[in-house]
Amino acid sequence: MDSLTQRIKEKAIQLGFDLIGIAPASEAPHAEAFRRWLARGYAAQMDWLVRDPERRTDPRLVLEGAQTVVVVGLSYFTLNPPAELWSDPSRGRLARYAWGRDYHDFMIPRLRELGEFINAETRAWRKTELLNWRNYVDTGPILERAFATQAGLGFIGKNTMLIAPRFGSYLFLGEIILDIELEYDEPHAIGCGNCTRCLNICPTQALPAPYLLDSNRCISYLTIEHKGAIPVELRPLMGNWIFGCDACQEVCPWTRRYAQPSQVAFLHYNHDVAMPKLLELIALDEAAFRARFKGTPIWRTKRRGLLRNVAVALGNWGDPTALPALQKAIHDHEPLIRDHAHWAIERIRQN
Ligand code: SF4
Repeated sequence: MDSLTQRIKEKAIQLGFDLIGIAPASEAPHAEAFRRWLARGYAAQMDWLVRDPERRTDPRLVLEGAQTVVVVGLSYFTLNPPAELWSDPSRGRLARYAWGRDYHDFMIPRLRELGEFINAETRAWRKTELLNWRNYVDTGPILERAFATQAGLGFIGKNTMLIAPRFGSYLFLGEIILDIELEYDEPHAIGCGNCTRCLNICPTQALPAPYLLDSNRCISYLTIEHKGAIPVELRPLMGNWIFGCDACQEVCPWTRRYAQPSQVAFLHYNHDVAMPKLLELIALDEAAFRARFKGTPIWRTKRRGLLRNVAVALGNWGDPTALPALQKAIHDHEPLIRDHAHWAIERIRQN
């Protein structure tokens, strides 16, 4: 087959993406579930999800004349660290996607290049002079996992992640919305079956039912998107996760069996990046934070958010070795860091 759709798919693979699929730009079948999820308050303080949910579920409201959503996936699995480091409570744990440089810097230029390729390929026969398109890498109003299922990339698991049969769920997703028609892929007919491992393992019970995530309790939300104090009752449950959490993905049989090492260089594994020493992090001033984390996903939390999380992890470590650093942190100029350092000191003393 040498159709335009096929050439687009080949180009995406050449550009370094692991997966590509094509879906029609119509209302996502998950739209009603998404509205119910919002109504239950499960988006917590992520106001951008609450605003204008209709656009997020229907690309035709985002781009005039939208007909197609191209969805790409990129594996970010690298390898499993040595077990002794993995379980060392003096080190913080970062979600795998944050073990490298900022993935937007890889994904967005390549998505643009794919859009330009489609532009060039269709220029001759298009009625309008310009191809109308938008591209997103969690940067715009699109229910990306829902369209990834429609594009045949995989299915949404009970942990609410997109699971691709040949890769598991350690995937970055990106989308291009287009105003031309292509050949559409079919959704997968597979799923989780009777498995409930992710629901059982979640440290904060953030999955109250299959396919339902309560962001208010999710460690990924609490350590990254949440800007204020972490609820006191959840802090002891967070262990040493300081940026995101992979608990519900690590146990997933699909991911355990099929995760494939990423081919992209920006994800090279390094112990001290993947599991940094907590005592090093709590000592970072603004300049040191900038030097270490600018250009990485961690930058999103700012120093204030990261050190808040680190203080919680130090409290959960429970080792008096951390007390001098925490004593210093209770004089930090950021009230949020001071508050969590106080909590950590109390927790260590009660140990
Ligand atoms: Fe589905 Fe089991 Fe994976 Fe959860 S752990 S997403 S239930 S297969």
